[in-house]
Amino acid sequence: MSNVPAYAAATAKSRLAPFSIERRAPGPKDVAIEILYCGVCHSDVHQTRDEWGGAIFPMVPGHEITGRVTAVGGQVTKFRPGDFAGVGVLVDSCRKCGNCREGLEQFCDKEAVQTYNSRDKAGAVMYGGYSKSIVVDEAFVLKIRHPEAQLAGVAPLLCAGITTYSPLRRWGAGPGKKVGVVGLGGLGHMGLKLAHAMGAEVVQFTTSKNKVEDARRLGADAVVLSSDAGAMQAQHRSFDFILDTAAANHDINALLGLLKRDGTLALVGVPSTPYTVAAGPLIMGRRSLAGSAIGGLAETQEMLDYCAAHKIVSDIEMTPIQAVNEAYERVVRGDVKYRFVIDLASLS
Ligand code: NAP
Ligand code: ZN
Ligand code: ZN
Repeated sequence: MSNVPAYAAATAKSRLAPFSIERRAPGPKDVAIEILYCGVCHSDVHQTRDEWGGAIFPMVPGHEITGRVTAVGGQVTKFRPGDFAGVGVLVDSCRKCGNCREGLEQFCDKEAVQTYNSRDKAGAVMYGGYSKSIVVDEAFVLKIRHPEAQLAGVAPLLCAGITTYSPLRRWGAGPGKKVGVVGLGGLGHMGLKLAHAMGAEVVQFTTSKNKVEDARRLGADAVVLSSDAGAMQAQHRSFDFILDTAAANHDINALLGLLKRDGTLALVGVPSTPYTVAAGPLIMGRRSLAGSAIGGLAETQEMLDYCAAHKIVSDIEMTPIQAVNEAYERVVRGDVKYRFVIDLASLS
């Protein structure tokens, strides 16, 4: 056991504040990682404020982790001290159920162990990446093949990257396909970059006028302000696939109407209130409304390798951990281009 500095929310109403946690000594299959960078996902905000219910406090958030391996257990084969490594949303699962065996650990029948706001198989509370170090079984640690200078920009790939890569792959984003991305935030800007890299025609939907130029720079073939009824109408019945990353409730029926026959709208955003779905736009055009959750470990590694090969990282704004509460406020306002990443060198 070792004591490790961290930042935690004591209750759903608390600001994040300095906190001390214990990390286990590495077991035979464990990798100990000095955390260098951790992205600030909107899920961190939802969970520390208990917007989804069932939150475990005190909570140390953070599931977009990159760092340096400091020690490995005797049976570890994939990592050596000094390697760079990543940890995302999952740190364990049953590894036996059908979903785990298919590499879809995020859908583990016994519920996967998440990096924070979760308990391990022994019932211990898990603490995330807003801390100096973490110990994780090597089966849930990712290899990073980007250059060292990009480690901060790689951190958001561990959640925002895989959460957009997985549905884009599943629903066949690529040449000849027209793909919409809703919301230009942490997830959305990764979805835009990835869909563009995969060769799809990409239309970015945003509620923010000040993001239109950026969306083009990030690879959008067209940008639609969702408040512009005429621009929305012009996209009617034209999409094969729309990926909806919005973090707050909005009109998804209008988006369903933009799909071609048999098109799919996949939700990855998790607002705290339920959507209202009209049957009409689903029936007329045999359209599908779907969802997607992060990705399994093998696909997460595939995504990281794809991003390294295509020189893709997140656009980030670095922040010291002492300013994380202000970063949260700006995330809620949609005022970040496009992911805050905490520099853990600021924590001692
Ligand atoms: P984010 O950086 O805050 O981006 C969300 C974007 O949604 C905002 O930038 C904004 O984009 C748009 N938006 C906000 N309010 C809106 C509204 N009322 N109507 C329409 N659009 C709105 O958040 P994120 O980190 O990308 O996360 C997005 C959501 O995905 C969160 O709910 C998060 O919990 C969830 N999530 C899910 C998974 C999963 O596995 N399914 C994984 C990670 C995160 P514009 O300014 O461009 O409109
Ligand atoms: Zn996340
Ligand atoms: Zn399982």
